[in-house]
Amino acid sequence: MQICHTIREFREARAVLTRSGKTLGLVPTMGALHEGHLSLVRSAASECDAVAITIFVNPTQFAPGEDFDRYPRTFEADLALLQSENVALVFAPSPAEMYPPSAPQVIVDIPEIGARLDGASRPGHFRGVATVVSKLFNITTPDRAYFGQKDAAQVAVLRAMVRALDTPVDVRVCPTVRDVDGLALSSRNRYLSALERTQALALPRILESVAERITPGSDLAMLRASLAAKLNAADGFTLDYAAIVHPDTLLPISSLDEGALIAAAVHVGKTRLIDNIVLTPVAREHEELTLTAGAAR
Ligand code: AMP
Repeated sequence: MQICHTIREFREARAVLTRSGKTLGLVPTMGALHEGHLSLVRSAASECDAVAITIFVNPTQFAPGEDFDRYPRTFEADLALLQSENVALVFAPSPAEMYPPSAPQVIVDIPEIGARLDGASRPGHFRGVATVVSKLFNITTPDRAYFGQKDAAQVAVLRAMVRALDTPVDVRVCPTVRDVDGLALSSRNRYLSALERTQALALPRILESVAERITPGSDLAMLRASLAAKLNAADGFTLDYAAIVHPDTLLPISSLDEGALIAAAVHVGKTRLIDNIVLTPVAREHEELTLTAGAAR
């Protein structure tokens, strides 16, 4: 496993892989790695000849007052976890390497999709994400890039980005990895106190309870209201958003023909948590729509 801190070092290592005709899978992360990240690494390793992981806490996707300064930075522990994975290259640049003060400012913006769900709650967040992921794609030139379904709005934004920019990268989406009790793994879970960790469990449970009630004939406006009401009533929660939307456009839907994304964000104490369930239409028989939960597309 080679660790690169500069773009030049990474490009040199990448050139060696290219010369030997190896396909590259990229896993972009902000570090503080857990099994969710490792599941992306393993998917990449199963589909590509070589895997690169990036570890970069990207300042431009945090708004002033968000948790950029206290975001967990656990580089040595991250490397230790990666040692037993099939990773060829680690790219861990500094902010100055990624955003040299002398470089002109360029922003990648997906103004409509990027302003929905988390983009509505965190204005500018997806400009930061799209810009840094574009740069990482240009630096690493992967064949495929692996993202988690846990960040469903990010998936929609990045799919739209590669489509609009004709980026030659296959965006792969991997299922959300959860703790044994159902809480989605997140680097931010370590902010939670013991009480908040228990309270946080209501998020996947409420999403699941609403997903279970969805049938092709469901009144989605009513279920959306019920989702919001349940989250609002949960101990310790302050609701950010509750949505039943199209998985690609992130717009509210009134039909399930193209599937549904049931997504929510809540604050538990000072910690913002997100989670979602995707319902994918799998078969049409006798005009009936069958839905399956959680599948990565
Ligand atoms: P982050 O380091 O939080 O920016 O996440 C890096 C990548 O890991 C993103 O594509 C996330 O969607 C993905 N990821 C984070 N948590 C999970 C999880 N619990 N299951 C699957 N993927 C995840």
